[in-house]
Amino acid sequence: MKKILFLISLISIQINAQDKAAPTNFQGNVLPIKGFCIAAPRSAGVTDFVNFIEDGLAPRSVNTLILRVDWNYRYKSHPELRDSGALSKGEVKKIVAACKKNNIRIIPQVNLLGHQSWAGRIGNLLKAYPQFDETPAVMMPEKYVWPNPDGLYCKSYCPLHPEVHNVVFEVIDEICDVFEADAFHAGMDEVFYIGEKQCPRCSGKDKAELFAGEVRTIRDHLAASGCELWIWGDRLIDGKTTGMGEWEASFNNTYRAIDMIPKDVVICDWHYELPHKTPVYFAMKGFKVLTCPYRNPASAVLQAQDMVRFRTSSSREMRERFQGMIQTVWSGAEQFMDSYYGRRIEKETNNPVECFKALYGEIKRLEDAITE
Ligand SMILES: [Zn+2]
Repeated sequence: MKKILFLISLISIQINAQDKAAPTNFQGNVLPIKGFCIAAPRSAGVTDFVNFIEDGLAPRSVNTLILRVDWNYRYKSHPELRDSGALSKGEVKKIVAACKKNNIRIIPQVNLLGHQSWAGRIGNLLKAYPQFDETPAVMMPEKYVWPNPDGLYCKSYCPLHPEVHNVVFEVIDEICDVFEADAFHAGMDEVFYIGEKQCPRCSGKDKAELFAGEVRTIRDHLAASGCELWIWGDRLIDGKTTGMGEWEASFNNTYRAIDMIPKDVVICDWHYELPHKTPVYFAMKGFKVLTCPYRNPASAVLQAQDMVRFRTSSSREMRERFQGMIQTVWSGAEQFMDSYYGRRIEKETNNPVECFKALYGEIKRLEDAITE
């Protein structure tokens, strides 16, 4: 009898578990977010890019476009930060209109905190406001090499400088306004310089607290106007314990910030070589998470399968946090479009165009299989 009761209770637990985990009525919503992330085109590339939205993104049901704008916009609030030949308001509106027509949500990105220089070139923010530099004593080299004695990957701004947010917030507000955005991507990846000894404000402070403080400051500013904050996830992963290293995870102790930042920050979890299972980690911490491949088609296919499996085999609470996939492109928009339209031949078979096609082919296959 005991055995029968035990069996009955086992069956009922199983039914209960199946009920809770069952992929109930996805209605084509297998992955809520099907994304694409790329640098905003320069002025001359806008027409081509609008065509790509129509014939590259829309037919694949891409519904989210992260556009890395940075200083490629003619900011009215801060003309000193504009790139030369930056996008005009009219050009941005052409992109906005094409996305609106195709039900694509645009999320503009300006790299905040880290990535304030690239190779031997200082970024526009620190060029105009050198006082915001976290490491003013580190000079930009004439010929950049990695590794280097300064540990210079990219410059950071000092998150505790009393004036930095006056500038940053005006930039955020203007870019969200012109893109008619309800979410903003702040980058915040690969922050190597943070809490540096030479900074009179940050020296000796906990790097995780500094990182979390900056996330919270930006999040709170956005939340006041109903805007979501999206960031890259690498600083929130322990690079040593996971073996993921100092690029796609953190070697400078910022990873504890995962328990210090608001749960409504959306995490873009990039992994380009292996389909790490980190979305589960972020989801279990309460965050919405997106997996972001780049140029490895085989890995991207596995990542898409994982994302669907996470959604179909999780509790209702967890399922809603596994939001989908974002194809990430790190070349300029022009270079990607040249490859996509066959005007440029890629030497490597692992490249963003092939990855994009493989990822969206697999997403379609998975959606068809699950909705049949
Ligand atoms: Zn500082």
